[in-house]
Amino acid sequence: MLATRVIQGHGVHVEGVNFFTGFCVEGHTHAIRNRKHEKPKRNNALWVAEQLGIKLHIIDISEDYKDIVLNPRHGYGQNLNPCLDCKIFMVGKALELGLIDDLDFDFVITGEVIGQRPKSQRRETMPVIARESGANDRLLRPLSALHLPPTLPEREGWVNREQLFGFHGRNRKPQMALAEKFGFSDYAQPAGGCCFLTDETYSNKLRDLWDARDSRDYQLDDIMLLKIGRHIRPKPHFKLIIGREEGENRFLAGYRKRFTHLSVTDHPGPLALIDGNLDTTDTQLAARIVARYSQGRDADKVLVTVSSASGVSQDIEVVPMAPHQLEPSWHVGS
Ligand code: SF4
Repeated sequence: MLATRVIQGHGVHVEGVNFFTGFCVEGHTHAIRNRKHEKPKRNNALWVAEQLGIKLHIIDISEDYKDIVLNPRHGYGQNLNPCLDCKIFMVGKALELGLIDDLDFDFVITGEVIGQRPKSQRRETMPVIARESGANDRLLRPLSALHLPPTLPEREGWVNREQLFGFHGRNRKPQMALAEKFGFSDYAQPAGGCCFLTDETYSNKLRDLWDARDSRDYQLDDIMLLKIGRHIRPKPHFKLIIGREEGENRFLAGYRKRFTHLSVTDHPGPLALIDGNLDTTDTQLAARIVARYSQGRDADKVLVTVSSASGVSQDIEVVPMAPHQLEPSWHVGS
């Protein structure tokens, strides 16, 4: 918001680009879960564009982005977040968009601030992003520009370097003061995670998926499902994805035609998908685990319906698993 407003102040026409990677927290988990929100649900990218009065391009890069997640040339951050490669990729895509769609843009801006993030926003990484994205001196960071060599828009006088900023470090007070000056009272909180790849539990679940399949690969549905439910792997060849509340159960129900699924019939309870293949003993085990998360957890016996993806169902009666029987190591991600 700040970088855009600064550059708009130089009389430059700015448009926004929001990339959908498949790992975005925004617009997914928040939309699915039934949690009570004080604030109305909103898509922050759209909301920001509206505040700034700019056009927003929402681009699905999830397919191409796979290679960034699987093979980051610059490695991962603390979890499976390939931030440096990700930024290089996104700046390159933004540049491409300006040319391919004949939008005739002259340069790309980002809100990066030197030293704000330990891995991807260091002084040394700034030129790497500019160079490897192909943007070179067409990449301007208005908030830290005074710590960086003059870029093309500054040299050409499209923007006035003297009116750019020299923010650096983790202290966000100067940015907050600028936000106040611009009249921005509502904005995303600095520490708010917007990408599941920075999340430890999520990254562990993704690693577990790769290990279980013996392949470092994923489909869009895989990474969507990692955001949802309790993941329990009692045996290496299958795991359960168990809805934690009504919104998640509804979301998981959308996958009923693709996964074997279980639900408790005689008590309120969750829907669970099976990722993997079950034999008869596995089915009993899975049903007992699902029963444990139903309101019949204290009953002697619970009726569980097991349905195949093709719609063939069978009802089985099981004893709900006692809490101490549920091995902590079965909980994927924790
Ligand atoms: S947090 Fe996620 S979206 Fe942001 S730069 Fe890192 S990998 Fe990319």
